[in-house]
Amino acid sequence: TGDAAPLLSVQDLSKAFGGVQAVDGVGFELRAGELLALIGPNGAGKSTCFNMINGQLAPDRGRILLAGVDIAGRRPREIWRLGVGRTFQVAATYGSMTVLENVQMALISRERGLFSFWRRAAACHRDEAMALLDQVGLAQRANEPCGTLAYGDLKTVELAVALANRPRLLLMDEPTAGMAPGERGALMELTRSLSVERGIGVLFTEHSMDVVFAHADRVIVLARGRLIAEGPPQLIREDPAVAEVYFGS
Ligand code: ADP
Ligand code: MG
Repeated sequence: TGDAAPLLSVQDLSKAFGGVQAVDGVGFELRAGELLALIGPNGAGKSTCFNMINGQLAPDRGRILLAGVDIAGRRPREIWRLGVGRTFQVAATYGSMTVLENVQMALISRERGLFSFWRRAAACHRDEAMALLDQVGLAQRANEPCGTLAYGDLKTVELAVALANRPRLLLMDEPTAGMAPGERGALMELTRSLSVERGIGVLFTEHSMDVVFAHADRVIVLARGRLIAEGPPQLIREDPAVAEVYFGS
């Protein structure tokens, strides 16, 4: 509802690399259960924003409030514990382990923060891992090594791994990059249903405008580090300022 406090509130976020102002005074909000797309041309500052929210980069300036708590400048591990999950642009699962083992390892990591003796401990997380795989539609692939999966299925394993930490906020940097057009919709629909079921807020970057317009609740647009437009997909699609940064017209 409109009264609920935002899950994520970013205020005046800024980061420079040398002389390049990669992110410049960016502010936006994201609510639980919402799919928010962050778009903009290459070099606009999208990944830099993500990396400040997940703790990989410390902002020069600004606040990142997660349910009211400022996480700006905290360590990645602490931010992860506070409920910020992420999937990676490049498939980051362990290829020689099975689908099930990857998810079990994520469950163990949630509790202990270390991977040692995970094979022995894994047995106790088997049911929970299988339940997660069932939710993402991969239960039948549980015992296959990740290295043998199709790319789209691998991206789905990454989603299950991210969910193992029970995130409140999920960051997805180009989740459908490299996927066949037909697979993209399926991954975003799965993301949508998991977001609704679990009340997770999702912030994602995306190159395909078709995916953005079909699956985002709201869109924010960055260009040269600044937020230049914000609104529902149908309005962003017709916004001349957005067309200009993409097509220079
Ligand atoms: P996007 O993800 O929207 O393509 P980025 O956030 O990756 O954009 O980059 C924004 C700007 O910051 C670009 O000009 C990029 O070259 C620069 N940049 C990003 N990361 C670094 C870095 N680690 N060191 C120097 N410059 C960087
Ligand atoms: Mg990027």
